[in-house]
Amino acid sequence: MDISAIDMTGATGWLTIDLEALADNYRLLASRVVPARQTAVVKADAYGLGAVPVSNALYQAGCRDFFVAQYLEAVTLRPALPADARIFVLNGLQPGAEARAAELGLIPVLNSLEQVRNWSALALPAVLQLDTGMSRLGVPTEELQAAREELAQAGTPLLFLMSHLASADDPANSQNVEQLNRMRNLAAEFPGCDICFANSGGIFLGDDYHHALTRSGIALYGGAPTEGRPNPMRPVVALEVAVIHLRNLEAGTAVGYSGTHVTAGPTRVATIAAGYADGLLRSLSNRGAVWFQSRRLPIIGRVSMDSITVDASALPEDTMTLGSRVEILGPHQTLEDVARDAGTISYEILTSLGHRYHRTYLQPNPRGNTS
Ligand SMILES: *Cc1c(COP(=O)(O)O)cnc(C)c1O
Repeated sequence: MDISAIDMTGATGWLTIDLEALADNYRLLASRVVPARQTAVVKADAYGLGAVPVSNALYQAGCRDFFVAQYLEAVTLRPALPADARIFVLNGLQPGAEARAAELGLIPVLNSLEQVRNWSALALPAVLQLDTGMSRLGVPTEELQAAREELAQAGTPLLFLMSHLASADDPANSQNVEQLNRMRNLAAEFPGCDICFANSGGIFLGDDYHHALTRSGIALYGGAPTEGRPNPMRPVVALEVAVIHLRNLEAGTAVGYSGTHVTAGPTRVATIAAGYADGLLRSLSNRGAVWFQSRRLPIIGRVSMDSITVDASALPEDTMTLGSRVEILGPHQTLEDVARDAGTISYEILTSLGHRYHRTYLQPNPRGNTS
């Protein structure tokens, strides 16, 4: 028995969130977009990493503007941040939630003429989202004139105009420049109003996309902002999971649900204590791998809810024991690697991690600067 493998917390999975790397990523993006102001997207519990600790670390690094998707996310985050932090609700408010949101000092993104009307009665600050080609949220061009008049009449202060890029991770996609041109044309109707346009990928499309404010999620969390390009961000997340069972199988033995893997020869199988309920998506069945002592151990058989099985035959005898920790995310395997193997994107890997891992937050450097 390897004594160092004993974990006194009783945990069998360890998620480490490096808030110093997060702060470095914020500072890297902020310096890249200057004189624009870098803001943070902390929706979906900061992509699964914990909206409160993540937002606090970003605040310490200088961030003052935070985007969540839903009103209830904003309600949770509001008391955790100092009063000079602004919290924006990307999806806007459901009819009837306006007064309560106003009381909490939340700032809605107005995505439709109806949301504009419902908020205008309060004459409080808001953000207006324009649809520049994604057809998801944002006031459609044909309703923009009416929205503008409504806001002017009510005396609603517009903090900035917003829109979202549909293809920002792909610089070769002509939709980017089309959306940029559309944004410029529409914004001309709002003279002097600031613009918040670029997400993580948009920042790396060039200075033309930066405007007054930029708005990043995935790059802060270490994900690659541009597909197929070297990732300039520091990794924020590391994930290790314990070995909970080891056995030697003979050739011709079925492994896992529905017996989708049958051993071709004598095989040492390790069962690892995380499954699809922990973000190891079921699409990783018979695909992808974990790492142990710089060796790649392929996932064999179906991913279960609470475990996966890997082929550990390549390891020298007795190097892996009960309680050994394998790497899922770390120096050998990036978020993008796991996402590719799972047939998805880094965003979905992060937001699927779940709440069963023992979490460690590495605290940021209190001096708040690099070096
Ligand atoms: C999620 C989201 C973002 C963040 O995008 P990233 O690609 O993670 O940087 C920005 N803006 C809107 C409207 C979003 O929904």
